[in-house]
Amino acid sequence: MNQHEFQLKTQSRDAFVDITGKVQQAVEDSGVSHGICLVYCPHTTAGITINENADPDVPKDIMMALDRTYPWEAGYRHAEGNAAAHVKASFMGSSAQVIISEGRLLLGTWQSVFFCEFDGPRNRRVQIKITA
Ligand code: ZN
Repeated sequence: MNQHEFQLKTQSRDAFVDITGKVQQAVEDSGVSHGICLVYCPHTTAGITINENADPDVPKDIMMALDRTYPWEAGYRHAEGNAAAHVKASFMGSSAQVIISEGRLLLGTWQSVFFCEFDGPRNRRVQIKITA
């Protein structure tokens, strides 16, 4: 079946959590050496992205830019009060795909897979589907 799920607990309202190690582990557990890995976030106020983690200021800058573009308070209608988090989640997208080559995620030198929290802290789930 090669479907995997793991949980994570985010620590603040906005957070980028590097999940590359957990995704790579799922690939190794699957036994698939060449294929596609889909990483999916089943939440409406969180997302998935791939970007640089070599410099930890990069995800911080992305969060800052998102906050500037989508401020928490901006006259939204959504009564729950977290409309900005929904908007950021849609902007970021709920999944990413990575090529698997020789049992490894084929990421660029500086790339990591991030879980993007926009309305934490919360308990979150990540689903992974691996196809050969
Ligand atoms: Zn909401």
